[in-house]
Amino acid sequence: MPDHSDILILGAGSAGCILANRLSADPARQVTLVEAGDFPTDPDVFDPAMWPRIQRRSYDWDYRTQPQPGTANRVHHWARGRMVGGSSGLHAMFHVRGHVSDYDRWVAMTGDPGWSYDALLPHFKATERYAEASDLHGTEGEMPILIPDTETHPLVRDYIAGWQELGLPRLADHNGREVIGTAPNSLMIRDGRRVTTAEAFLRPVLHRPNLHLLTSAEVHRLRIARHRVTGVEIRTPDGARVLSAGQVILSLGSVADPLLLMRSGVGDGQALRAAGVECVLESPELGRNLHDHMLGAGVVYRAREPLAPSRLQHSESLAYQSSRGLDVHAGAPDIVVGCVVAPSVSECFPMPAAGETYTLLFGVTHPTSRGELTITGPDLRDAPRIDPRYLSTEHDRSAFRAALGRARMVGETSALARWNGGEVLPGPDLRRADDLDAFIARAAITHHHPVATCAMGASERAVTRPDLTLRGLDNLAVVDASVIPAIPCGPIHAAVMAIAQKYASDLDA
Ligand SMILES: Cc1cc2nc3c(=O)[nH]c(=O)nc-3n(C[C@H](O)[C@H](O)[C@H](O)COP(=O)(O)OP(=O)(O)OC[C@H]3O[C@@H](n4cnc5c(N)ncnc54)[C@H](O)[C@@H]3O)c2cc1C
Repeated sequence: MPDHSDILILGAGSAGCILANRLSADPARQVTLVEAGDFPTDPDVFDPAMWPRIQRRSYDWDYRTQPQPGTANRVHHWARGRMVGGSSGLHAMFHVRGHVSDYDRWVAMTGDPGWSYDALLPHFKATERYAEASDLHGTEGEMPILIPDTETHPLVRDYIAGWQELGLPRLADHNGREVIGTAPNSLMIRDGRRVTTAEAFLRPVLHRPNLHLLTSAEVHRLRIARHRVTGVEIRTPDGARVLSAGQVILSLGSVADPLLLMRSGVGDGQALRAAGVECVLESPELGRNLHDHMLGAGVVYRAREPLAPSRLQHSESLAYQSSRGLDVHAGAPDIVVGCVVAPSVSECFPMPAAGETYTLLFGVTHPTSRGELTITGPDLRDAPRIDPRYLSTEHDRSAFRAALGRARMVGETSALARWNGGEVLPGPDLRRADDLDAFIARAAITHHHPVATCAMGASERAVTRPDLTLRGLDNLAVVDASVIPAIPCGPIHAAVMAIAQKYASDLDA
């Protein structure tokens, strides 16, 4: 393992594995990839149905938020993969790119047309392997994307029919040009197994002599001098090391990127000094703008007949829509409802019996609540202070009420009458806005999509530039979910893959 490389990628997660693949394709380039975790050996990781149960194990960083006033002062667990493959080893496997207007927002914030949906389309396609090609679907990429058909649960088929009954369009999948509508979720599953970015992009190229993977290696600090990263302090079971590179890429994810930068003296000077760290580069927005999707868990129904288990990953269909109306011209999506072939509730409620209940999750696609995260001390072991300020805006609370109303609306359709044995939660009598707010505060859980802690932007205050280089450092780029300036409507993994793919192809151009 060389001490010096041309490119040093920190974090072998969703973005890091793609970067390692693409950037080591040039044999003249020495690429080193550093990861705190290891390849997962737990078979549960690869069993799609197990995804809700594999959190808080040894391969989860398992962060905690501050108590959240907007969610009844609850502390939320934030799962983040600590393994080769990162959070793609924990996630729920949905592959949703988002709405065209999501990327118009990125263009407006960066001033760079390269972040439009149309400009990103080749990058989305380059990572994807669909069974059938189309103008919008890639077949040559490494990540298999399953559009379920016969595997879909009969409950979910009726749920989809329920939306059609209400006038919401039926889509072939959520990765066409339109995302408003109902469809089975497209999933990163092949032959009944989860496919992580490590399996798709990294393992097949590990034989390359110019690619070096260092696992069980924690990144502690960047050494910064004269506007450059001059060394990266890591700790392995064999001891401490300092690595260096011409170009350093941070791909530690939305939580760990800003924490590493702050431990290294980048950030808001006052906050750094309070944590016992000397400031070497003012970056006032670092760790700010933090936002996340939440889901209400949930509108739970008693099933009239026993429910067979899901053959996929329980949460088989999301329906994106506008709170202004159910037809596609009502406006861009702002709410989402999902169907889970299982009970799904927050820690505030007793878990209903599996096989006897099902859940309609509901959520807000573009929350306006913004929080921040900071270090509390100079060491990796000092627990971060994570404050997403969930549900702190009236926009988010009223959109959540609208989403809950839509979940109930589809739940009561005749298409679902065969299954509907009555609403268990929140309970049919709960109707008043303040009661619904109180229920939502106790029911809302993270959808696991924190973004924007190193948001790219045209503004001089933005942490990263539109080309993903960090403002103030000449040889550091940030390439992962943390640069997303505004969350797309759906789960963000497809966007993370496209960000990594775009960065690598721009570097090679
Ligand atoms: C439970 C769960 C369910 C989700 N469901 C979905 C879904 O269905 N669809 C979807 O689109 N998205 C989903 N997501 C979100 C998606 O998985 C993430 O947004 C995405 O994987 C983030 O990729 P990343 O490259 O930014 O970070 P990560 O994939 O988290 O990679 C960061 C890597 O850096 C490593 N690292 C961190 N700190 C250090 C350090 N100090 N030293 C060394 N290495 C370090 C980590 O171990 C990790 O491997 C889910 C996430 C979770 C956790």
